[in-house]
Amino acid sequence: MVPLFGLASCGREKETEPQPFDAAFVRLSAAEVATLPLAVSFEMPMGGEQGALVYNAQPFRTTRHLGDDLNGIGGWNSDLGDPVYAAGAGRVIYSGMPGPGWGNMIILAHRVREPEAARGWRVYQTVYAHLEKRLVREGEVVRRGQKIGSVGTADGRYLAHLHFEVRRSGSVYPGAGYADAPLDRVSPDAFIKAHRGAADDVLLPAP
Ligand SMILES: [Zn+2]
Repeated sequence: MVPLFGLASCGREKETEPQPFDAAFVRLSAAEVATLPLAVSFEMPMGGEQGALVYNAQPFRTTRHLGDDLNGIGGWNSDLGDPVYAAGAGRVIYSGMPGPGWGNMIILAHRVREPEAARGWRVYQTVYAHLEKRLVREGEVVRRGQKIGSVGTADGRYLAHLHFEVRRSGSVYPGAGYADAPLDRVSPDAFIKAHRGAADDVLLPAP
């Protein structure tokens, strides 16, 4: 499909095939889960404050898509090399190249407060794909807003954009970018909006 007006989105066929993965279907251990950073708030992974400078070329569940495709507002490849930030505090549980359809991929795991969960929190993962560069290694702890990579094209497969997913899962795997069912994915846009911290001026009202 030819992208219109420079709207970069993932090539469907290429990304549908599962790709080989070093740590196939590794499940996070109880100890790993217990020591995951508690992410108290999340923010968009690119485009400045509240993602003001990005648009979502292919939102969650559009044409079976399992993530959001975030693009710089300049379109085409104007966002190539733009910084990609950790959406929330977490630990790097994957940093590598699972297959050609994905390019460079980083997966972070986070503990997220959920009062209705048995332990008061659940494990979520944020997934950043097609990256030009990866700046973090597996096992590293990252803070929200830390630069972890840069926007890429998966080696020229797509126009530059960030394929961004949020998964509710304790297993580590690259998966596929498209599926008939949402699987363990949730809408990244809705997740970020629901977990965005209160603005500073609300937390610290002027006297
Ligand atoms: Zn995508």
